[in-house]
Amino acid sequence: MNFLGIETSCDETAASVVTDQTKVLSNVVLSQDELHSPYGGIVPELASRNHVISINYIIEESLKRAQLKIKDIDLISVTQGPGLIGSLLVGLSFAKGLAYTLQKPLIPIDHLEAHIHSVFIENKDIPFPALALLVSGGHTSLYLMRKKLDTRVLARTRDDAAGEALDKIAKFMEIGYPGGPVIEKLSQHGDPKEFDFALPKMSDQSLDFSFSGFKTAALRHIKTNKLNKKNPQLKDFLASFEHSVVNALISNIKKAASQHFPESLILCGGVARNKRLRKRFKELAKEQGMHSFIPSPEFCTDNAAMVASLAWEKYNQGEKGKLSLDLNAYAQSSY
Ligand code: AMP
Ligand code: MG
Repeated sequence: MNFLGIETSCDETAASVVTDQTKVLSNVVLSQDELHSPYGGIVPELASRNHVISINYIIEESLKRAQLKIKDIDLISVTQGPGLIGSLLVGLSFAKGLAYTLQKPLIPIDHLEAHIHSVFIENKDIPFPALALLVSGGHTSLYLMRKKLDTRVLARTRDDAAGEALDKIAKFMEIGYPGGPVIEKLSQHGDPKEFDFALPKMSDQSLDFSFSGFKTAALRHIKTNKLNKKNPQLKDFLASFEHSVVNALISNIKKAASQHFPESLILCGGVARNKRLRKRFKELAKEQGMHSFIPSPEFCTDNAAMVASLAWEKYNQGEKGKLSLDLNAYAQSSY
């Protein structure tokens, strides 16, 4: 069976075709980074309007790369939420129209569940239980997985997401958008120990995250020391900031591992592209005698292969999908 996935939850217009055994036949992502870059962040109205302009072309391109025609698609899956409501509505409305026209089943997908599932595209056999850390521009959460599709949230961020903190510092310094990859590049040869950002203090049992303290401390440092992009200290400052964000993530997952004794650690979401984080994550797993799984970079940031692949898994576990035209998008999720 050929599963079409559609993803428009934020500022990426994406479509993918996945076939049996979660084989990815195509994975097309059109990023709007350039469009939002002058604003240092996503402008929701611009994002949804551009999804409208691009979606048809992106789906056609995903079919072309998969060497299929639309009539070869057996099931349609689409991100239902959470995300920017205007953006979600473009993908969801398109998917409903397509499913109705083709008279094919439609499976709605939760964006966060899709991110967690992205790791199974390349790894079929992950030993359970697993701890999954989802780090993206909008979310930073930790989950306990007993098996595929059985996920319980253990912790969330109490304020900013990790990616959001990186994006905001980059915006403030006017060094580019999105902040995560820009900071990674500029801090490559910086000293991560040069500046100290204290880890947030939580009660003993809490596994929750917090990044607003880092952000405030960093902003204060920038203002007090009149740090700007021409300053030679910039690379050390950015390396130290990135290092602190990574430290906070690693220290929480270490604490969670000591409470839940997982067999595997999973890292996913856009920030999981970060080399420093990937390295530290693998080292932690090795040190603790656990397996570690991180998707390839293309499956970390928003994409539709994770949507279609999760739909495939759900379908194979009995969810047949239905042609429901009263599906609604949701902006927030409790997932
Ligand atoms: P997502 O929300 O999953 O699409 O991921 C987007 C987020 O990932 C943004 O906050 C980016 O700044 C962040 N991001 C992407 N690539 C990297 C990277 N190499 N290092 C750190 N953060 C990154
Ligand atoms: Mg995302």
